[in-house]
Amino acid sequence: MLTWEEDVIIQPPRVVPVAPVPPVTPQPAKSNSQVQDATRFARVTADAKRVINGNSDVNQLVPFKYKWAWDKYLAGCANHWMPQEINMNRDIALWKNPEGLTDDERLIVKRNLGFFVTADSLAANNIVLGTYRHITAPECRQYLLRQAFEEAIHTHAYQYIAESLGLDEGEIFNAYHEVKCIRDKDEFLIPFIETLTDPNFKTGTLENDQALLRSLIVFSCIMEGLFFYVGFVQILSLGRQNKMTGAAEQYQYILRDESMHCNFGIDLVNTIKLENPHLWTPDFRREITDLMRKAVDLEYAYAEDTMPRGVLGLNASQFKEYLRFVANRRCQQIGLDPLFPGANNPFPWMSELIDLKKEKNFFETRVTEYQTGGALNWD
Ligand code: FE
Repeated sequence: MLTWEEDVIIQPPRVVPVAPVPPVTPQPAKSNSQVQDATRFARVTADAKRVINGNSDVNQLVPFKYKWAWDKYLAGCANHWMPQEINMNRDIALWKNPEGLTDDERLIVKRNLGFFVTADSLAANNIVLGTYRHITAPECRQYLLRQAFEEAIHTHAYQYIAESLGLDEGEIFNAYHEVKCIRDKDEFLIPFIETLTDPNFKTGTLENDQALLRSLIVFSCIMEGLFFYVGFVQILSLGRQNKMTGAAEQYQYILRDESMHCNFGIDLVNTIKLENPHLWTPDFRREITDLMRKAVDLEYAYAEDTMPRGVLGLNASQFKEYLRFVANRRCQQIGLDPLFPGANNPFPWMSELIDLKKEKNFFETRVTEYQTGGALNWD
């Protein structure tokens, strides 16, 4: 079983919607600007906060309301890592040795980097240029800032692996245009990014609030929650067979970050649902289910393309079951019925790597310590 132990902790929305408003008509009457100032400068209360369409000051982190978001921000910071801390020498020697890897294993590495090296840029741009400005809870914004930096670290990690191995950068960075199974996944995502990054898009109507919720679900449950998982299993399988161990270690750290991104997104979605139950209509649920089904097909096509034959004890058909298992889990996490009842997890070892509660042991292999400030050179 994958470990999805992280409970979705949601504070039920309370009924008090507005910050205290000072009396408007005492004698002598206050001017309009005095009233506006009093409202504008009223102290923020936790009750007044909303994840979307909130009116309270987004610059005031406290008082906390969405503690789950703040806790994830702290956990993300505690898990900080950088790609260059990981020794890539064994990977380089193996890659350069003509006998080191089979052609099928090399294909997996190149396809993986081809997908991921732009996927995390898409994710970062989606946060910074889209999601962030539509979220009105400062605790959630704080996590999104951390997440955006983690996406940059991931792009750095993939670039670092490609550079270490001396891969053709043009081939790797253009794969999302040139390799059909990668392009298809990205083309599926792009309309949902464009919705949020459109400068004219604003929340506040049923249609637009549903559009935001749809994009958030696509990002958390499909992109970060499904589209990454064939690639993660493949590279981590190489590592389990003592091949490409540096790359596999990078992917372990990335997997841990991404599983937090996915869980954060799911908490965000569920809190928006609680605060805005009118968005969760039968038609909307049906639409999400259809998107999930389409995503499973796209990710399975990626599995077939990257594993034309069995490799590393893996084969594409195992991934059909795995993706169904993961999709069921995502559906359940946002309150939908499982799409593929009875699907099992053929890769139970992934749970060991995803389990965030093992984070203290996770860094035992780290090769350097962090320097906070000591690395600055003022000469
Ligand atoms: Fe992410």
